[in-house]
Amino acid sequence: MGTRLKSWLGLDKQSDYVREYFYKTNMRASIYMSVVVIVLELWMIIRMTRTIIEGNLQAQFWHLTEKYYSNYFLLLSSGILMLLFAVRALYDHRKCRFAAIAVIIMSAAVCLFEVKMLKEYSPQTKTFSDLQNYIILMLAAVSMIVFSVLLLTNGEDKKWESLSVMYIFSFECINFGIIISANSFYTGGQILTFLTMELFVICLLVWRPYMGFLVLTASYLLFYYKINGMIDLNTVGSFKGVIDFSTVKTGLGDGIKINGFTMWLSTLMFCISNYNKTKSQAIKDEDLEQVNSYLSKISVEDELTGIHNMVYFRSEADKLMGYVTTDRKNIVFLFFDIINFKYYNEKYGFHEGNSLLKSVAGMIDERFKGSLVSRFSDDHFVVLTKYEGSAEIIADMCEKIHNFEREVHLELKCGAYRPADNESDPSLACDRARFACNSIKKHYELNYRLYDKALEEKFRLKQYIVNNIDNAVENGYIRVFYQPIVSTKDKTIVGLEALARWQDPIYGLLPPGAFIEVLEEYRQIHKLDCCIIREVCREYRRAADNHLPFAPVSINFSRLDFELCDIVSELKGYASEYGTPQDYIDVEITESALTDQQDYLKNAMRVLEQSGYKVWLDDFGSGYSSLNVLKDYHFDVLKIDMKFLSDFSNNDKSKPILNNIVDLTRQLDMLSLTEGVEDTEQFEFLRSIGCERAQGYLFSKPVPIDELRERIYKGELRINEAYMK
Ligand code: C2E
Ligand code: MG
Ligand code: MG
Repeated sequence: MGTRLKSWLGLDKQSDYVREYFYKTNMRASIYMSVVVIVLELWMIIRMTRTIIEGNLQAQFWHLTEKYYSNYFLLLSSGILMLLFAVRALYDHRKCRFAAIAVIIMSAAVCLFEVKMLKEYSPQTKTFSDLQNYIILMLAAVSMIVFSVLLLTNGEDKKWESLSVMYIFSFECINFGIIISANSFYTGGQILTFLTMELFVICLLVWRPYMGFLVLTASYLLFYYKINGMIDLNTVGSFKGVIDFSTVKTGLGDGIKINGFTMWLSTLMFCISNYNKTKSQAIKDEDLEQVNSYLSKISVEDELTGIHNMVYFRSEADKLMGYVTTDRKNIVFLFFDIINFKYYNEKYGFHEGNSLLKSVAGMIDERFKGSLVSRFSDDHFVVLTKYEGSAEIIADMCEKIHNFEREVHLELKCGAYRPADNESDPSLACDRARFACNSIKKHYELNYRLYDKALEEKFRLKQYIVNNIDNAVENGYIRVFYQPIVSTKDKTIVGLEALARWQDPIYGLLPPGAFIEVLEEYRQIHKLDCCIIREVCREYRRAADNHLPFAPVSINFSRLDFELCDIVSELKGYASEYGTPQDYIDVEITESALTDQQDYLKNAMRVLEQSGYKVWLDDFGSGYSSLNVLKDYHFDVLKIDMKFLSDFSNNDKSKPILNNIVDLTRQLDMLSLTEGVEDTEQFEFLRSIGCERAQGYLFSKPVPIDELRERIYKGELRINEAYMK
C-alpha cells in the first residue's frame, strides 16, 4: 500500500532511464512554452509601447514600467533563456551567444529598475505586496543573468542547470499570471492570464503529483490572497490613480471561490494523469530499450562464455584488414581447440563442460587483452592479434591446460595463420588457422602449428573437395569400392563393405581419408553417403538382372547424415527404386558417432530397425565409451576395431582382450566381426575364439566390384553359396 501511495504521489524512486525520459519530455515541452511566451511578450511589449505613444501616456511611463514592462521584459528574457537551455538539452551543445547576451542585457535592465524601485520604496506610497514584487523580480533577473553566464561559459548540457531554468521560468510565468490577472480583476476584468499560465506550466510540463499539488496550491492561494487582500485593503498602493476604486468589487463571492476551487482541482487532476501517462510510456520505452539492448548484445556476444561471437569477429576483422594503417606483416589469426573436450563433457556432464569452456574463454580473452577474441564454435576459439609475442602466450596457455589435473587429459592446440599482404578475407584466414590446428590434433607432442607451404597444398585440396562435392556426385567421380567380409567357418564371402573413393580428374584416386573428414566438417557428408547408397542399390539391380555374384553390402553412415538429411528415407527410396531387399543392405555406424546420446540418433536407428535394416557398430573399441554405447543401443553386428590386431603377435594382451570382446558379443546376442585381418595367424586365432566374421587385406583390399567378381571367377575368393547366382 505504502509503495502504491508513494508511486501515486510521485515519491517513488525512478530509474535513470525514466528520469531521463521525464527530463527530455519537459525540455521538449519547454520549447513550445517558451516560444509561445516569447511571441506573447513581444506582442505585449509592442502593444504597450503603442498605447503609450498613441495615448500620450509618457507621463505614466515609470508607473507602467513598474506594473507591466518589467514583467514583460523579464518574462521575455526567461522565455529566451528557457528556449536556449531546452535546445541545448535536446539538440546540440552550441551556445547561442547573441540571444544569451540579449537575455543578460534585458535582465540587467530589469534588475537595475527593481533596485531603483526598492530604493524609492516607502510604506506610505506602496503596499507590502509591491515590495514583494520588487524583490521577486530582482532575484529572478539576477538568477537569469547567472544562468546566461553559465550557458555562455559551458556548452555541455547539465541537467541541473536546465531544470533550474525551467523552475525559474515556470515560477515567473505563474507570478506574471498572478500579477496581471490580479490587476485586471480589480478593474472587473478577466483572470485568463493567470489561468493560461497555470495551464501552461502544469499541463505542458510533467510534474510529479506532489510537486504539481504544491505548485498549484501555492499559486492559487497566492492569487486568492492577492485579490482578497487587496480588496480588503481597498485603498493605498501602487493602484492609486490608476484604478478607479469605485468599480472594485468588495469581498470575494462564493461563486468565485467555487470556480477557483474547481479550476484548481481540474488542473491538479490533469497534472496527475499527465504524469502517470508519461511515466507508463517511459516504462514501456525502457522495457523496449532493454529488450533492444539485450538483442544487440547477444548479436555480438557468445551466450555461454560472454566473449564475442563470430558475427562480431568477422565484422571487426573485416574492418581491421581493410584499414590501410593495419600492419599486415605483424598480424596473426589463431585458432584454438581443446582436445578431449568431448570426453570431458561426457565424464563430468554439461555443467562442468560449460564451466571449462567459460574459463578457457576467459583465459584466452585475458591473455590476449586488446586483441579480437571470439568463440568460433563448441570448444573452438579464434583470436586476431599481433604476431610478435603471441607464440609465448600460446605456449604458456597450452602448458596450463596440459597441467590441468583431471582424469580426462586435456590439451589446448593452436593453429596460426599470417595473412599475406593482399589478403582481406577473415573467414578464409580463420579457416587456414583452423586447418593448421587440425593438422596437429593427432600429434601428441605438438601444440602449435603455423600455417605454411606444406599445409597450403593440403588446404587447397580440402577447399577443392568442399567446392566440388556436388560436381563429383553428378559426374560420377564418386566410386564404390567393395571389401569382402568372410565367414571364419569356411572363408566364404558373406558380405561386402562399401567404401567410397573419389576418382578425380585432377587429383587422381583419392582415399576416404582425404575427403570424409572435410565433408563432415563442412556438413556435406550426406551428399556422398546418399550417392553411395544409390550406387550400391544400382549395383544390386545390375547383379540381379545379369545373374552376377553379389552379397549383402554394409554402408557407412556418418552421424551427421541423420542431422543433414532424412537418410533413412533416402535409403528406403533408393532401395525401392532399384528393388533392393532389406537384407542386402546393412548400416554401419561408427562408435564415436554414438557418444553424444542424441535422441534423434536413437529414433533414426529405431526406424532403421523397424524398416528391416540391420545396424552394425563400426570401430568398436576405438573410443572412450565403447561399453556405454553397447548398453544404450542395440546392434546386430559388432565390428571390432583393427587396432586390436595392430600389434597382435607382440602384445600378449591382444588375445585375451579379443577373446573377451567376442564373448561379450555372444552374450549380447550380436555377431562379431574383426576388421584389419592381415595374416593367417590372426585369422586362425579369431576362428578359434568363435569370432564369426573377418575382414581385411588377407582376403582383399577394397576394390571395384568387377575386380572382385573376377577373383571369384578365378577361384581366388569364394562367395557363400547363399549368394551365388
Ligand atoms: P571403416 O569403415 O572402418 O573401413 C575400414 C577401413 O579399413 C577401410 O579404409 C579399409 O580399406 C581399411 N582396411 C580394411 N582391411 C584392412 C587391413 O587388413 N589393414 C589395414 N591397414 N586397413 C584395412 P578406407 O577405405 O580408407 O576407409 C576409411 C574410413 O573412411 C572407413 O573406415 C570409414 O569410416 C570411412 N568411409 C569410407 N567410405 C565411407 C562412406 O561411404 N561414407 C562414410 N560416411 N564414411 C566412409
Ligand atoms: Mg566401416
Ligand atoms: Mg571400421
